[in-house]
Amino acid sequence: MQITREKWSKNFSEWFDWVLREGEFYDYGRYPVKGMGVWMPYGFKLRQNIISIIRNLLDSTGHEEVLFPLLIPEDLLSRESTHIKGFEEEVFWVTKGGSEDLDVKLALRPTSEVAITTMENLWLKSYKQLPKKYYQIVSVFRYETKATRPMIRLREITTFKEAHTVHETYDDAQRQVEEAIEIYKKIFNNLAIPYVLSERPEWDRFAGALHTYAFDTIMPDGKVMQIGTVHHLGQNFSRALDFKIQKKDGSLDYPHQTSYGISDRAIASVIAIHGDDHGPILPPSVAPIKVVVVPIPAKNEEGTQQVMKYSIEICEMLNKNNITCVTDQDTEKTPGEKFYIWEIKGVPIRLEIGPRELASSTVFIKRRDNLKSYTVKKEEVVNKVKEVLNEIQEDLRKRAWESLKSRIEYANDIEKAKNILENNSGIVEVPWCGSKECGLKIEELTNARVLGYPIEDRKVNDKCVICKMNAKTVLRVAKTY
Ligand code: ZN
Repeated sequence: MQITREKWSKNFSEWFDWVLREGEFYDYGRYPVKGMGVWMPYGFKLRQNIISIIRNLLDSTGHEEVLFPLLIPEDLLSRESTHIKGFEEEVFWVTKGGSEDLDVKLALRPTSEVAITTMENLWLKSYKQLPKKYYQIVSVFRYETKATRPMIRLREITTFKEAHTVHETYDDAQRQVEEAIEIYKKIFNNLAIPYVLSERPEWDRFAGALHTYAFDTIMPDGKVMQIGTVHHLGQNFSRALDFKIQKKDGSLDYPHQTSYGISDRAIASVIAIHGDDHGPILPPSVAPIKVVVVPIPAKNEEGTQQVMKYSIEICEMLNKNNITCVTDQDTEKTPGEKFYIWEIKGVPIRLEIGPRELASSTVFIKRRDNLKSYTVKKEEVVNKVKEVLNEIQEDLRKRAWESLKSRIEYANDIEKAKNILENNSGIVEVPWCGSKECGLKIEELTNARVLGYPIEDRKVNDKCVICKMNAKTVLRVAKTY
């Protein structure tokens, strides 16, 4: 398959495939199992950098990392009835060991609430041990029947960060939900990813949860992608698994739990959202390579070698200052060909160093995001690069937030909402009375998905778009991934 440069906002799906492959992030569609992709070395480094941000934020807020088995027996998975109903059509089953049929079917974990609660039941006995916050970063498996997409809709989600917490009371668990939301805001801010936070409606909660709060972002094509969820599980799982703890007043009771997850989609959004027609623009906070030096050949061989030496010297200076830099030493490719390659990799800063820079002991700095450039003295390079990296990080965040905000519209008429979604996509907020019936009708009439409603009170002086009763809040509707 020939993959050529595609328009970022016009032809996003093709653009994304092109970037993942040509930028050597992720090889998708060629491994012989549907819905499973391969992280290539460069993409793997980006993934590691994103995981580090997540891990640091969880570790510093008292979460402890664990690692549970991949397999969950069928009888355990089916213990919480809503939970199994929500997942049974998407579970991969292991039914044989060698040529023998297994006594109990084993599921490849689609998520780990029951697995973790089973062990918590053995480990946790008293309120004195609470709150308890565990997390793991693992593969989960879902037998997706819709069309799969690289990093976005997979059968193996390879970067599933799932946190699971235990609390004495409902309110303690609610406070944990709030902490999780704050942690996620920090994660997405670090990644310069804008988001909309909604409470999912009752008909679209996580299977087995009392409340589901979700972070959604808008992709370049206007479709909305869920990038993080936080669930208040109440006592549903502890009750189903007969997990009790001793409370402060001496009584035995089921503890309250929460769980929250982030997946490969966070990485997909980092690559997709800060792009242009030349490729992605990785935020400096996670870019595996922050600076690339492209030497510009001189008229003669000796001059070219001196330029190369000077380029390597500058790059080493940056590396010594913890700014990951690479010099492109390829002698076959032209500078233009090299620009093309490093742009698809999303490297935020390019240094162009040629005979002119060598003669004047300067460096030419070019920003990937807005093409601004600066010529600075060799001694000033480190400080200038640091400054420019910070500016890029900030500007990417601002640009992405502005773009997201410009794609949220209000419509007090269902036809208008439908039109917006069909033409510009993004998110439409419509006045809503709060009833499930009207919510489902809104979904049906707009031919879109309901994301939910704002978690803060929203004053709406309008009538519900369906029943014309006074609206209690707005319902957010979007075309989704
Ligand atoms: Zn209504």
